[in-house]
Formats: sequence, structure tokens, C-alpha cells
Amino acid sequence: MFKKILIANRGEIACRVIKSARKMGIATVAVYSDADRDAVHVEMADEAVHIGPAAASESYLVPEKIIAACKETGAEAVHPGYGFLSERASFCEELEKQGIIFIGPKPRAIIAMGDKIESKKFANEAKVSTVPGSPDVIIDVAHAERIAGEIGYPVMIKASAGGGGKGMRIAWNKAEVRDGFERATSEARNSFGDDRIFIEKFIVDPRHIEIQVLADSFGNCIYLGERECSVQRRNQKVVEEAPSPFLDEATRKAMGEQAVALSKAVDYQSAGTVEFIVDKDRNFYFLEMNTRLQVEHPVTELITGIDLVEQMIRIAAGEKLAIKQNEVKLNGWAVESRLYAEDPYRNFLPSIGRLTRYRPPLEGPVGKAVIRNDTGVTEGSEISMFYDPMVAKLCTWAPTRLEAVDAMADALDNFVVDGIEHNIPFLAALMQHPRWREGRLSTAFIAEEFPDGFQPISPTVDDLDVLAAIGLSAELVRKERLDRLGDRLRPHSGRIHAEWEVRIGDDYVPVIIRSSAAKPPVKLELSLRGGDFVTVRSDWRPGEAVWDGYVNERPVKAQLRPVSNGMRIDWKGMSVIAHPMQKHVAALEKLMPVKIPPDTSKLLLCPMPGLLVSVNVSAGQEVKAGETLAIVEAMKMENVLRAERDLTVSVINAKQGDSLAVDAVIMEFD
Ligand code: ADP
Ligand code: ADP
Ligand code: MG
Repeated sequence: MFKKILIANRGEIACRVIKSARKMGIATVAVYSDADRDAVHVEMADEAVHIGPAAASESYLVPEKIIAACKETGAEAVHPGYGFLSERASFCEELEKQGIIFIGPKPRAIIAMGDKIESKKFANEAKVSTVPGSPDVIIDVAHAERIAGEIGYPVMIKASAGGGGKGMRIAWNKAEVRDGFERATSEARNSFGDDRIFIEKFIVDPRHIEIQVLADSFGNCIYLGERECSVQRRNQKVVEEAPSPFLDEATRKAMGEQAVALSKAVDYQSAGTVEFIVDKDRNFYFLEMNTRLQVEHPVTELITGIDLVEQMIRIAAGEKLAIKQNEVKLNGWAVESRLYAEDPYRNFLPSIGRLTRYRPPLEGPVGKAVIRNDTGVTEGSEISMFYDPMVAKLCTWAPTRLEAVDAMADALDNFVVDGIEHNIPFLAALMQHPRWREGRLSTAFIAEEFPDGFQPISPTVDDLDVLAAIGLSAELVRKERLDRLGDRLRPHSGRIHAEWEVRIGDDYVPVIIRSSAAKPPVKLELSLRGGDFVTVRSDWRPGEAVWDGYVNERPVKAQLRPVSNGMRIDWKGMSVIAHPMQKHVAALEKLMPVKIPPDTSKLLLCPMPGLLVSVNVSAGQEVKAGETLAIVEAMKMENVLRAERDLTVSVINAKQGDSLAVDAVIMEFD
């Protein structure tokens, strides 16, 4: 076995690999860029080597720097994680030349599977069912139109070198083929430096189901069941689970055996994933093979009890696979939520900043469930614009699917992140979504169920009552403490008033308090909207982010954040501002004139902090709806800001090259 390995990656996956290596008694070397000096993976590793500036192209993506770091530290092998150099065959070849072992497949398998056109050929030869389509590289628009016509609409236009959901377009007719071919080509050229395009049938409303394989260097290959990753946004996975609620034993076996056949056809070794799409009738079609550890591998680990990173290291060290196919047992259910630094209320635009609060739920058993959280950050960490915006992967395991989903909902309610915008509210809302809970999924699920983007769930009347009860109990605890600490400027009788109202949005929930102990642990008896008296109990103290307690004996975990004269409460995908006030204050407040928010419809505001790449119009210019006004770059993504309607530009307030804050006014319209 190796004595020391280097992890050529950062963030959660670097930490993940270090954990398994440490368990196996192997020393670890981290590498880091300028931006990652204080990163968690650097702290966790036994040694760390600085490899250059923040930009990945000058650090994590430079093979020479990784190899030099191996030499300097005596690391015998390199684990590449995912992304970065994990699927670059030339890097593996160079390592081999230097006598360093790559913890992954051989370069030949990476080359064969790294290219979608080539891998489809291999799959066909190995009798794996592939998406109907043409094996040819498309030469020009006319060729694209002809092939699309032969396949039959709708079709998918894809970059052969594609990955990460890039270089893909759906076309429903000839015109869309023309447009899609050109756009996929230029996106592929820009993202991958390779503009080869092919066309295949677009499978309508499919599920994405993938098979995990493990293969050693002695020709043994097994499959570890499937993961379903149908919950996707723009062809990128958001929530994954294992097993799939859709597969029966026969389909699982057929897919598993085809995945093994394909792996054997390319002499695969290490952990790998064969991705399929599956239609309504459980016909399945090969999509691609990912020749690396997959982001969502934890859900497989949770239901099989197999440590995939450990297996990869053992295989790379030349050990024989110790697990036989008939020993692989799928136990219970696991769900993974990807926590991204992105703003769900602003069309999921990336968000950067410092994690002023980062309090994940505790890992380990909770009731029947188990919580696991793979992360590479800690409170105080900086989410920068240089790397992937994934902050953590929160996983839950439980005996059944619904128990795992409910455990996830609770864990999300308990996960406190401040300082950046993040998608926890969206994930929390997903966990309550009936279609998700029933497992009726397809890759179009998010697009179909959230057509206008994400809005927090609107509370029902019952929800409003619970929210009002939480808000009022927190307010009383806060007040009680102020009194106890002796607020001399506002002498207080210590008596708690009986009649209250809690304003939430446009609603006022009247509350009558019968008896109370407002010193934590709080216990109140109250009547909401004139109903029966119920009990509210909690240990919550001012300053705590999670209100953990009972409303009418129902357990509730909600997040509280102070705002002026009230608090924001986040609970099960709902997000409201609650203002508790005494009844006579509410009566006066209702007499106040309504404040009208400022009109921003004549301004182009910068949607996220970023660099202004270009201003595409000038003052006085008339612009049609849909035309490009400006381009802002953040987190490696160019965001095109378009005119929402026909308009005339009056003033331009920013220039190319400016670093802009969120909501900075880029230009004004007449
Ligand atoms: P998974 O199926 O494991 O989620 P993805 O295809 O989403 O895999 O990619 C995993 C990671 O690797 C992501 O961080 C993604 O951005 C990155 N990635 C994948 N392929 C490429 C590529 N060709 N170029 C750049 N980054 C890529
Ligand atoms: P990437 O390398 O970016 O991961 P994939 O080929 O794995 O690209 O496709 C990513 C996603 O795009 C799939 O999970 C699926 O949702 C969708 N997709 C890809 N090909 C098709 C197709 N032919 N029909 C329908 N959906 C597809
Ligand atoms: Mg894929």
C-alpha cells in the first residue's frame, strides 16, 4: 500500500479523499492556490504545497506543478478528485513517465470514454443500448439538417468533448437545428477547444439513472447499483438519490450488466460511472461514461456500505477487488442535496462572499436516519469567484425513501448559512414537493414545476399560525431578557401583555396568551385566531439561529434572523418576515399609509457582483426587446443582460472593466 498520496484538487472532494486515506493510514499532501491558503483541505492534510495563483488555469490545472509537488514531498500516487485534471489522459501519461501512480483508470480508457462520439462507438460494439442517432461528426448546417431529419424530431445537438452540461441544444424543428448547431459549436469551441458536434434523438421526459462500477487491474468488474439524478437544472444535477424509485430488479440487473460489459470493453479499472437516460417504458440508453469519482458518489456509499475512495486507492495500489457481485447489497435509501452558492430568488445567479455563519447539522445518527455532510468550507471561509460554487453535499440515509426525504427536510431546516446567497430555501421547498415525494421524476421536473423560477412556498393558514407562534414566543424571550438585563431607559413592569398580533406579509394573526414562562425554556399557552389554547415550548435563546421546539406538540425546527422590529423565519421552504406587536400597536399600524417601493423599471441593475465585460449599447440608442445591453462575468460564467422590452438608453453609468457590486446601476432608460 502507498505511504503517501497527493490530492490534486480542492474543496469538499479533496477533504473527502483525505478522510479515506487517513483511515487507511496513508499520509496526505494537499496542493493549494493563493485563494486557498486557509482552506480546509490544506488544514486537514499532513503536508501542503503551494502551486500558484488563484486562477485554476495557473494552479490546479497545471500538470507540471502537480508533478513537482509529488517530487518535493515524495508522494507515490495522485488522486485527482473530479473536475480539474481528473479526465485528462495526457496528465496520467506524464505521471506514468515519472513513476507516479494515477488513482483512476488507465489513459486508454479515459481517451475512449472522454469523447462522446468515440464512447458511443465503444458502447455499440459492447452491445450497450445507445440513444438513437448518427455516429458521424456533423460537418455543416446542411449536414445537421439532414441528419436531424433522418433521426426525427426532437433531436439533441451535442458537443463530443462536452461536459458539465455545456455545448448541448435541443431542437424541435429545422430552424432550431440551424441555430442550435451554431451555438453548440461555438460553445464547444470556447469551453473545450474542440468543436466536433453530433446529433442524437432527444428522449422526451427521461430519467437520468446511472450505474456505479468498480473494476480492478485483474479484469474483475462489479456494479454497485444505481443512482437517480433526474432533479436537474439546465442539465446539471441538484438532488440525487440511491436507489432509483423507478427501477425494478430486472432493469437494474440489465443496466448493471451493460455497464460492466462497457467497462470491460475498455479495460476499465478504478471507480467509474455509466450514465443512462431511461424513458417512461423503462427503455434505457447509454449517455456517457464518467471515468472518475462522481460528485454524487456518497449516496451509493450510504446504501452499500462500500467506501469508493478506499476502493480506488486499493485498486491503484494493485490489490484485487475483495467484493464479489453477489455480495453487493442495497440497504435503505439515501438522498443528496447539492448546496450551491447561488441566489434562488435571482434565477440562481452565482453568489460570492464570506461565510459569516456556517453551521451544518451534526453528522451521524438522528432517530432512524443518518446525516452526512461532505464539505470543504468552515465558518469564515471565503466563497470566491474562481471555483465551482458548490459549498456542501448534504446527505441523509434512512430505511425508506420518505424517511430519508423527511430527514433531509429537517437537516435543511437545521443548516445555517449566512454571508452568501444559497439554494437551501429551494432545496427545502423541493423536499416538500408532492411530485418529488412521490418519486414521479424526469429531467424536466424542475423546469416544469418551477417555470417562473423559484418563489418561496406560500404559507397556508395553518402554517401562518405556526409561524406566528414561533415569532411571538421568540419575541417574548427577547423582551424577557431585555427586562432581566435591566433596561433602565425603558423601565418595565415585567408583566406580559395578553393580547398580541403577529404581522406576516399582509396577514395579522391575533394571539391571546393565557399563561407564560418567557424565560428559556419558554412555555406558552396561547390561542391563535380565537381558536383553542395550544402549548408552545422551546429552548431557543436570543442569538441562536435555529428555533427548535414544539407548537401544539408538533416538533418544529425553523431558522430565525433578526430584522428591524421582527425576524425572518425560514421553515420548510417558506421564508417570511414576522412582526409581533401588541394588539393596540397593530390597530395603529393598520392606519398607516402604505409605502410604495421605488420604481427600478428604468434602470439596468447589476444582478451579481462581477466584472463588466462589455457595454453593448450607447446613450441615446434605441434597443429592441431581447437585445444584449451588457455582459457581466462572475464565477467563470458570462451573464448576458438583455433588454426586457423595447426601450431607449438615456445614460450609461459604468464602463467596460469596472468591478461592479450587486444592484449597481449600469445604465438608465427613458
Ligand atoms: P457529475 O456527473 O459527477 O455531477 P459533472 O459532469 O456535473 O459530473 O461534472 C463534475 C464536475 O466537473 C463539475 O464541477 C463540473 O463543473 C466539472 N466538469 C465536468 N466536465 C468538465 C469539463 N469538460 N470541463 C470543465 N469542467 C468540467
Ligand atoms: P454532460 O457531459 O454535460 O454530463 P450528458 O451527456 O451526461 O452531458 O448529459 C447531461 C444531461 O442532459 C443528462 O443527464 C440529461 O438530462 C440530458 N440529456 C443528454 N442527452 C439527452 C438526450 N439525448 N435526450 C434527452 N436528454 C438528454
Ligand atoms: Mg453526464
